[in-house]
Amino acid sequence: MLSAPRVSPAPAPAGNAAEPGSGGGAAVGEGAAAAAAAAQPAGPPANAAGVTEQDIQRAFNGVTRWFSSQSPFMAVALLYLLSVHLTEITGLVIIASFLEYFAAHLKHVHGLSADEIRPMTVGSTGLLLLFWATLAFALLFPSGWRYFVFLPPSPPVTSFLGVTWIVLINSLFVRLIGLGLKFVAVALWRSDVRRRRRVLGVIENIDITYSLLASTPQWAFFFLTAADSGIGAFVRSVLAGTYLFLKGRVLLQQCAHTWEVVAALARKQLPYGHYASAQELLETGESICPICQTPWSAPVVLHCGSATPHVFCERCVEVWFGEAATCPLCRAQVQRPGTKVYEDGATDTSPQLI
Ligand SMILES: [Zn+2]
Ligand SMILES: [Zn+2]
Repeated sequence: MLSAPRVSPAPAPAGNAAEPGSGGGAAVGEGAAAAAAAAQPAGPPANAAGVTEQDIQRAFNGVTRWFSSQSPFMAVALLYLLSVHLTEITGLVIIASFLEYFAAHLKHVHGLSADEIRPMTVGSTGLLLLFWATLAFALLFPSGWRYFVFLPPSPPVTSFLGVTWIVLINSLFVRLIGLGLKFVAVALWRSDVRRRRRVLGVIENIDITYSLLASTPQWAFFFLTAADSGIGAFVRSVLAGTYLFLKGRVLLQQCAHTWEVVAALARKQLPYGHYASAQELLETGESICPICQTPWSAPVVLHCGSATPHVFCERCVEVWFGEAATCPLCRAQVQRPGTKVYEDGATDTSPQLI
């Protein structure tokens, strides 16, 4: 705590008697010196404002002393919070670790070739995950089903942290169920890689959409009925309206994207382009993929609006889409910003709060 850079302890020049903290009321003096120090952090020993290095030193020491004297109480307060919410925090850490582990495992399995995938093992992993997630959820949260059918909690939760917790923990279960379904999908479409990619993208996008949808009534209800917080009915309506407006924009974008991904699966097409014909390959005037610089494998024409077709390997462009939603050649927007196809088997494990 005391290892912060020290100002060199030069003696104060003679005649400088401006020491605001010397007269009593040390805390006030230290505050004033700190403010002056902030305004001129590396000033000379005696400057126009009359702040000496000693003043800065004294302010710094005062702040350090205050933190040193308070830190035991802060530590106790933190320990208290931890002990009161120990079950919740432990549960959250366990479920989040499960999610991270299985998400990485699924991506690994999806990356294997068809004869390397053991369908029985992969399929039963998915079914076990589904079973485990459902059972744990039913046991831990007896009225949790309300969340899944877009109902506000009963009895109502009126604290901000309470709603945050409900949304966080339930969205984790939504993600786990999506992961279970994806393992089953990998086992079912083991040898049909193209279809498997589409199906994984559809499951992930539906899961994200559902997750966004399910948290909406929780927050809207909270803003509308936060009655005990002393906020008037008008302000509450404005809060709920603002939330719904902002959330609606995110939701509309995600729903439209999910629809495209589902429609592409139904039509056996790509959500961002189509498989190139021999004629289109000729039109490019090239014979290799601009990303991997080798002959195309499963060449895809992006719907980027270019006059000459912009063609890439299907695999290459999917890796690209993990980073950007644009055409690698002309940078035109190919997917909606902020949305992904998730055909590489990735799962969005970032916690959902809103
Ligand atoms: Zn390529
Ligand atoms: Zn392009």
